[in-house]
Amino acid sequence: MPARTQRGILERLKGGVVLGAEGYVFELERRGYIKAGPYVPEVVLDSPDALRELHREFLRAGADVMVALTYYAHRGKLKDVGRENDLEAMNRQAVRIANEVAREGDALVAGDICNTWAYDPKDKDASSKVVRAMYEEQLSWAVDEGIDFVIAETNDYLGEALIALEVIKGLKLPAMVTLASTRPHQTWDGYDYVDACKILADHGADIVGMNCDRGPATMMPIIEQVRSRVSGYVAMQPVPYKTQAAMPTFESLKSADGTNIFPIALEPFLCTRFEMADYARRAQALGVNYIGICCGGGPHYVRAMAEALGRTVPASKYSPAIELHPMIGAKVEEKEKEFLVDWKG
Ligand SMILES: [Zn+2]
Repeated sequence: MPARTQRGILERLKGGVVLGAEGYVFELERRGYIKAGPYVPEVVLDSPDALRELHREFLRAGADVMVALTYYAHRGKLKDVGRENDLEAMNRQAVRIANEVAREGDALVAGDICNTWAYDPKDKDASSKVVRAMYEEQLSWAVDEGIDFVIAETNDYLGEALIALEVIKGLKLPAMVTLASTRPHQTWDGYDYVDACKILADHGADIVGMNCDRGPATMMPIIEQVRSRVSGYVAMQPVPYKTQAAMPTFESLKSADGTNIFPIALEPFLCTRFEMADYARRAQALGVNYIGICCGGGPHYVRAMAEALGRTVPASKYSPAIELHPMIGAKVEEKEKEFLVDWKG
């Protein structure tokens, strides 16, 4: 493993908030490098420059962690798209690229494992072996290429999350384990989300919390309870969509005529950068330690969140100066005629 000399994730968390940035799969799908549906990160091998560029944009926006794009780069998903033979190459290259870009700044590199779709609580023993083997092979390649810690994310089952945690702890790396939350109150194996976070923390997860599925408005109340129950570090990585009580997850969002819009017609519900900045401030006030973003995330959100946390980041050089806009700034009176006359009739 290449030697890494920076302060690790736990030291950084001790010093204050760590800013995360994810949403690689959704963003690279929008940019035309990943197929919606299977959502396998084929971009890693097919268009590495596109991935490198997005890492760099998140880095410039203030992300403290470059998360290797190995989400869904596991045996089950690669089989779905007929690329099982690319498994090792895809995993290794994803970590290598994350490392390359992390070194352009002061970012850490996280290995990433996720829900496998192979875990089955009704056939726990056999399915656990399959899941464990998938995590072990992915993380052995990641460790070999060099990572600072591991994020196990989007866990639908507490049982599967605990397998991930064991594998990570076996590698003696810090573990961040976060839950998906597609159901109202419980994981797919029936644990209250808050209880599940507490169990993960009690089993040695260094950082616990939630990612994906919910926007800030519907994730915050659960994270508030997690914060009050868990003494260790808490993570929150919502999606930047306006989920609400009646439609608490982005999978449940519907258009006015009742049509399901997940996952590729979600735009009408996107949060603004100001709403995401407000979320970052509220999460910090609540005592959340790892504040990030998931599917739907983009660099403009991350910069707004970084600045809301009081930081000036490389991309702040081009942060908005709306007062200089000819239609909004001081010269609006004289320009008004030119630009607005048609609209006013
Ligand atoms: Zn997500």
